[in-house]
Amino acid sequence: MTTTPARLTVLAGPTAVGKGTVSADVRQRYPDLWLSVSATTRSPRPGEVEGVHYHFVSGAEFDSMVERGDMLEWAVVHGRNRYGTPRGPVEQHLAAGEPVLLELDLQGARQVRASMPDAQFIFLAPPSWDELVRRLVGRGTEDAEERERRLQTARVELAAEPEFDHTIINDDVQRATDELVHLMGLPTG
Ligand code: 5GP
Repeated sequence: MTTTPARLTVLAGPTAVGKGTVSADVRQRYPDLWLSVSATTRSPRPGEVEGVHYHFVSGAEFDSMVERGDMLEWAVVHGRNRYGTPRGPVEQHLAAGEPVLLELDLQGARQVRASMPDAQFIFLAPPSWDELVRRLVGRGTEDAEERERRLQTARVELAAEPEFDHTIINDDVQRATDELVHLMGLPTG
């Protein structure tokens, strides 16, 4: 008898599109679903908790993780900080037959595509460019210079949408989450 290997799902999309909100909604609906915690060299924002939102590490610690081959993928995002996915926990959960969701930037998604082509790649898109700008300004966590940097990256990321297996338009978080859990094959109802 053969069993279907557990599926890795990669969710990518531009800044402020709502990847974090949709992931949090999935986490709330499926408290037992494990979500990868990325390592980052960026400083914590108010309210962010070490080991929950990210592992906040120094540049030297990040270097060591990369040198040891401990990163499944990593990237410099928005020309600034490094972000990476620790490999071990992802492989352990997949080996245990559990579905795994990774929330990555475009560069990370492309690296995973190269190393794990059987994963499914989902692009979370904003309803419109104006709405994306509105969300980024509205959340108020970046200054004007950082916002501009993120919007430049967003233009590049939006152009990459055809590389993905599926697109979900985040016009409504509940609906977008419904679509994501359906694509991940998670039990509903
Ligand atoms: P933020 O600083 O707003 O938390 O995240 C900035 C960007 O980094 C987001 O686009 C997010 O998807 C991306 N990101 C978060 N974790 C990872 C990761 O482990 N690898 C990659 N490649 N990107 C990540």
